[in-house]
Amino acid sequence: MSAPLWSFEVFPPRRNAPLGTIYRTLDGLEGLHPDFISVTYGAAGAGSDSLTTRISSDIQDRYHIPAVAHLTCLYLTRDEASGIAHGLKEAGVSRVLALRGDTVEGRVPAGDFAHAADLVGFLADQGFEVLAACYPERHPEATSMDADLAHLKEKVDAGANHLISQLFLDNASFYQFLARARSAGITVPIEAGIMPVVNERQIRRMVRLCDAELPEKFRTMMDRYGSDDVAMRDAGIAYAVDQIVDLVSHGVDGVHLYTMNDPEVARRITEATASLFGHDRTASDIVAA
Ligand code: FAD
Repeated sequence: MSAPLWSFEVFPPRRNAPLGTIYRTLDGLEGLHPDFISVTYGAAGAGSDSLTTRISSDIQDRYHIPAVAHLTCLYLTRDEASGIAHGLKEAGVSRVLALRGDTVEGRVPAGDFAHAADLVGFLADQGFEVLAACYPERHPEATSMDADLAHLKEKVDAGANHLISQLFLDNASFYQFLARARSAGITVPIEAGIMPVVNERQIRRMVRLCDAELPEKFRTMMDRYGSDDVAMRDAGIAYAVDQIVDLVSHGVDGVHLYTMNDPEVARRITEATASLFGHDRTASDIVAA
């Protein structure tokens, strides 16, 4: 039985933030030995590609960790996508998480890539290793879970060989999704996306994303500790560790940690779960790193 994957997501510095901040984050993540680090792509697209490409390339060249560059396609023309693909190849980045991206009000899609599956096929044809996103609690625009799974299967059929899930707080929803995906003929590895909820901003994001789906256990924790920064941090880390232990016990293919560029949170979670992920990673290696 092979060990589950352990991977991280980071985002490029927000507008006006110095580029150096991402390297401080990566310095902190380096010793945690992730199997790969993925780098997000700005929702509106414009200008994001160069930053995502540059950081992905640095993750590989400076930190010697495999990188996955995210790319969204709704507002890209085919020519623009070709240019970005060329830039990624030049930078030595061969893995891309192909996404449609969210719709932006008032902005007209370019029309060349209506769905992520279109970008998956485009990149797979050019020799990239392509990953795609999946949604254990269904994508908000999908009319049903069956419809969403049918579209997920299209991404896999178009060439996605690895899926990373949207964050979720209730593992039961992930297990149900996994069973349905497998019976729909989706056989590629599916990593579980976990976001440690450690502050008020993330609580608000979670409430927005999960709507009424917040588990009772999480709500109780939030009510009790939501206004105490230190306690919320401890409780959020413990909640994520608990989810991860349960996921790995259930034999998941891997866990993708949404680090929110906070290496301290990633370190504490990695320390608490290191031996579950095998490799030669041990708690003492991490402490020494
Ligand atoms: P799709 O797979 O195209 O699906 C979107 C919706 O369209 C779904 O409801 C699906 O069921 C439906 N659909 C698909 N194909 C068809 C079809 N043929 N006919 C009709 N309906 C169809 N956003 C960013 O801006 N930058 C990022 O870096 C980023 N990273 C992400 C990483 C992960 C792991 C995840 C889970 C999400 C990420 N997102 C990111 C958010 C993502 O862009 C949004 O969730 C977006 O709304 C959907 O993108 P998708 O690739 O899943 O789209």
